[in-house]
Amino acid sequence: MRPDILNPLFVEVGALEGVGPKLKKPLDKLGLSRIRDVAYHLPDRFVTRRAVENLDEASVGEQVVVALTPTEHKSSAGRGPYRVLAQDAVGNICSLTYFGRASYSAKKLLPVGEKRWVAGRIDQYGQMLQIVHPDHVLEQSDDSLQRLCEPVYALSEGLTQPRVAGLVSQALDRLPDLPEWIEPSLFNAEGWPAWSDALKLAHKGEHESARDRLAYDELLANSLALLLVRADNRQRKGQPLHGDGHLRDKLQLPYSLTGAQARSVKEIEGDLAQQAPMLRLLQGDVGAGKTVVALMAMLAAVEAGKQAALLAPTEILARQHFETLRTMAQPTGVEVAILTGRDKGKARESILMGLMDGSIDIIIGTHAIFQDTVTYKDLALVVIDEQHRFGVAQRLMLANKGKQTPHTLAMTATPIPRTLTLAQYGEMDVSRLDEMPPGRQPIDTRVVAQERFADVADGVARHIAGGQQAYWVCPMVRENENEDIAAAEARYAGLKERFGDDVVLVHGQLKPELKDAAMERFASGQAKLLVATTVIEVGVDVPAATLMVIEQAERFGLAQLHQLRGRVGRGSEKSVCLLLRGGALSETGRERLALMRQTQDGFLLAEEDLRLRGGGELLGTRQSGDTPFRVATLEQITQLLPKAHDDAKILMERDGGLDSPRGKAARILLYLFERDWGVQMLRGG
Ligand code: ADP
Ligand code: MG
Repeated sequence: MRPDILNPLFVEVGALEGVGPKLKKPLDKLGLSRIRDVAYHLPDRFVTRRAVENLDEASVGEQVVVALTPTEHKSSAGRGPYRVLAQDAVGNICSLTYFGRASYSAKKLLPVGEKRWVAGRIDQYGQMLQIVHPDHVLEQSDDSLQRLCEPVYALSEGLTQPRVAGLVSQALDRLPDLPEWIEPSLFNAEGWPAWSDALKLAHKGEHESARDRLAYDELLANSLALLLVRADNRQRKGQPLHGDGHLRDKLQLPYSLTGAQARSVKEIEGDLAQQAPMLRLLQGDVGAGKTVVALMAMLAAVEAGKQAALLAPTEILARQHFETLRTMAQPTGVEVAILTGRDKGKARESILMGLMDGSIDIIIGTHAIFQDTVTYKDLALVVIDEQHRFGVAQRLMLANKGKQTPHTLAMTATPIPRTLTLAQYGEMDVSRLDEMPPGRQPIDTRVVAQERFADVADGVARHIAGGQQAYWVCPMVRENENEDIAAAEARYAGLKERFGDDVVLVHGQLKPELKDAAMERFASGQAKLLVATTVIEVGVDVPAATLMVIEQAERFGLAQLHQLRGRVGRGSEKSVCLLLRGGALSETGRERLALMRQTQDGFLLAEEDLRLRGGGELLGTRQSGDTPFRVATLEQITQLLPKAHDDAKILMERDGGLDSPRGKAARILLYLFERDWGVQMLRGG
């Protein structure tokens, strides 16, 4: 149960003054559903404004406050902006420009002929100056306009800066006094502010120490929760499995295991033999050969008379794993089946029966294999592929599926820097596949200017004519999936004119049947060219595909480029990766592409990715989703996580039940950051 002291923070935003049904949606979009979220909606940055007499004193790009008198309102046809032309004290004209619904407020705020104080950033618009969506429009000059430092918040349509600032200020007024959970000596050494002061300071200015404290809180909560899971797991009674090897001996692998694979299998066997359920992460770059390791683990479970399940994040991957594993397992006579959300009716019934009566030994599928309606005879091992898509909470849910807690093997093809491994998988033991299967040729990676598109297309044509296959990854159009898909469809249409039925298209919004059909055509070699958005990023294995074109490669992160490139170079043929770069490159963009040319070591690229993206980023500007954190930036994770993790360990050693005063404070922290699943590991938590 959440401690009462936190209740004011978990009240819905609707409780704040001025939040009606209209604001609900824009707030939801920003993930601001409770008071807590609003208080933690930290500014992206701060602006410093200068009051100027007239526009001659202002320069383009500058944040100013200036008195302007509207002369004309111009609404444009269609989707164009709404412009209010306004004049300064010496007759300069400036356009106050509004897009979308914001134009309604412009009509009221800026009556023609009446002077207003306007605050915002000066931009150049053709011959004219303009201010897009002024931050403030006031009738009277007022101190707030000339504040030296004003927070700038991430917005969504329907919200304005003053609106959000007002909500934040209300939320901050409701902060309870919470006991300190940070270790006193660290707290003093860092000179950090207390929790509620830190939150208030972080909204007021660039208060690094306050931001760090808030980040540290989140990191500490995460580490502590993971350690609680780990401690709980140690006490659980699983089923010790002693596979005797009789099934694995029957495999007819066309290769022998690499040293890293053999070591990982040993480590897994060791875990399976324990009473406490295994919690192990198999980390291995794309193509490192995780599948066979997973198969060995599952066969060991079947040898011990139990069932094993493999959970894949997508339908495509589930099907692919099923095909591969069924073929590999054939000589063993083990029954392998697949179950996804698409299996309905009789087929589904018969799979469910097989799982219940134990005639199916190994089941492959999407999350459908863990629905309540699915019952296992004796599930003893769960393998989760592409682990990073599942959160810890989901992992824990799976743990309750077997009669006893099943062993868990998580696999990820994302080589994660060590610090992030700790953050994501701190509760797990790690096996690293740091050795590639032999015979791989390095991928010839080249950077090509987008203007040479025609040459690239010719190259693809020659490649295909030579009997090989290719991927074509379409540009990423900012973080908008629909636009990505539009771009991919346009590219596909163009390439289809040239390549006809040799081309197929795959993207995230394609109907599953169509997507599978396209993938199948490509995997079977009927189609030669696969045009795709980044949905192919994860797991697809077509060894005959030896060319990859990535458009606008500079827009992708290093880790993502590496993931994509990993689709080629999977067979023994020489592979090529062409990184098409668009216009001007930023410094980091250039460095990223250079690194891609220089190395293929995923762990190294991951560390570099972290370095390149970590520096100087503030919340909101970073890509979300690749860390489990909302407050902590990559830079803060790198600097503070090891400390937080050690601190959590010491606390656990001294007070594993979290009963001391500091332990109790730490419980509050866990709830504050919604790591309740950690607390629930404690009896009576
Ligand atoms: P990933 O780790 O990306 O899941 P896979 O398991 O799909 O990698 O393996 C990639 C390819 O390498 C497959 O075609 C597989 O048959 C092959 N492979 C795996 N292990 C070895 C090995 N020890 N020697 C040679 N080839 C291997
Ligand atoms: Mg794989």
